[in-house]
Amino acid sequence: MSGEYNKFQKLKRTLFLWVLPIIILALISRILMIEKNDLFNLYMIPILIVVFTLSWVLLLIRKGFKAIEIINIAIISIFFMLKSYEVIYFDMVVHDQTSSGRSTYWTPLIFVLVFVTLKGKKGIMYSLFLWTIPTTIAIFYWSELLPDTKETLIQYLLSCIVYIIFLFFARHIIIAYTETEMLEKLAFQDSLTNIANRRKVYQWLEETFEKNKTISVIFFDLDRFKKINDELGHVVGDKVLLELTSLVKNYLGHKDNFGRWGGEEFIIISDHDKKKARVLAEQLRMSIANHHFSEVGQVTSSFGVEISQKGDTAETLMKRVDQALYMAKQEGRNQVKSMP
Ligand code: GH3
Ligand code: MG
Ligand code: MG
Repeated sequence: MSGEYNKFQKLKRTLFLWVLPIIILALISRILMIEKNDLFNLYMIPILIVVFTLSWVLLLIRKGFKAIEIINIAIISIFFMLKSYEVIYFDMVVHDQTSSGRSTYWTPLIFVLVFVTLKGKKGIMYSLFLWTIPTTIAIFYWSELLPDTKETLIQYLLSCIVYIIFLFFARHIIIAYTETEMLEKLAFQDSLTNIANRRKVYQWLEETFEKNKTISVIFFDLDRFKKINDELGHVVGDKVLLELTSLVKNYLGHKDNFGRWGGEEFIIISDHDKKKARVLAEQLRMSIANHHFSEVGQVTSSFGVEISQKGDTAETLMKRVDQALYMAKQEGRNQVKSMP
C-alpha cells in the first residue's frame, strides 16, 4: 500500500512541476496589465508569483512537499476569499459590473487543487467551505445587485457546486478503478516474476479457443532446478527464475503471451504456426543455455511445442504439450520436442 502512496505523491509532484510554471506565466502576464489604483492585485499577484516560484524550486530539489501543498492551499484560499469580496462588492455592487471577471476562469482549478491535496471527506468539506464565502457575500449584498449581475452570480455559484460534486465523484471513480486494477493484478499475476499466473494463462487459452483461432503453445521447464535450490538455496533459485523471465521477454513480440504455469514451468501462448513456434522455442532454449546466470552459471531447459488441432480443448492441448515436454526430458533434456 505504501508503494501505491508513494506513486500517488510522485504523480502529484510531477503534476505541480508542470502546472506551476504555466500559472506563474499567467500571473506575470496579468501583473503587466494592472492599473496603479488596483491595490488588491498590485499586492496579491506578486505574493502569488513569489510563493509559486519558491514552491516550484522546492519541488524541483525535492524539499518539503507536504509543507508546500499546505502553504499553497492556504495562500490560494486567502486569495479566493479576498477576490470574491473584491469582485462582488467593488466590481458588482460599487461599479455596477455584471461580469464576474477574468479571475473566475481559475476558480475550478482552486477546487481541483483542494481535491488533489486533501484526501476523502476533507476535500469536499473544504471546497464547500470555500464556496460559502462568495455565496455569503452575494447574499449579504443581494438587494444592491443588478438583475444581470444576480444571474451571473447564480450561474457562477451553481457551476462551482457542479465542479465540486464532479471532483468528489471523479476521485471516487479513480479510486474504485485503481482498486479493481489492483485486485485483477493480484488475481492474475505471479507474485515472484510479475508475469501472468496459471489462472491468466487459462483465460488466454479459453479466449483463443472461443474465437476459433489457432493456438501455439510453448511449454518449458528448467532442467535439474531442484539441484540449484538444494545446493545454493531457495533465494538463489528465485533469482534464476527472475533472470530467466527477463531473458525470455527479450525474445517475445507483443502477441506472445508469457506466463508462469507454476514452479519452474513457463508457457508462451501465441498464434504462430508449428514451424515458427518451434523456431522461437529453439531460440529460447539456446539463449537460456548460453546465458550466465549469476551465482549459478549455466542452466538449461526443456521444451514442448504444440499447435491446437480440431476438437482440442484447453485441457487436451495442455496434455499434449506436457507429453512433448516429458519426451524432451526423457531424451536427455535441453531440447525442443513436439508430439509425432
Ligand atoms: P527436471 O529436470 O526433471 O525438471 O528436474 P527438476 O529438479 O527441475 O524438477 P523437480 O520437479 O524435481 O523440481 C522442481 C523444483 O522447483 C522443486 C522446487 O523446489 C522448485 N521450485 C518450485 N517453485 C519454486 C520457486 O518459486 N522458487 C524456487 N526457488 N524454487 C521453486
Ligand atoms: Mg524442472
Ligand atoms: Mg517442473
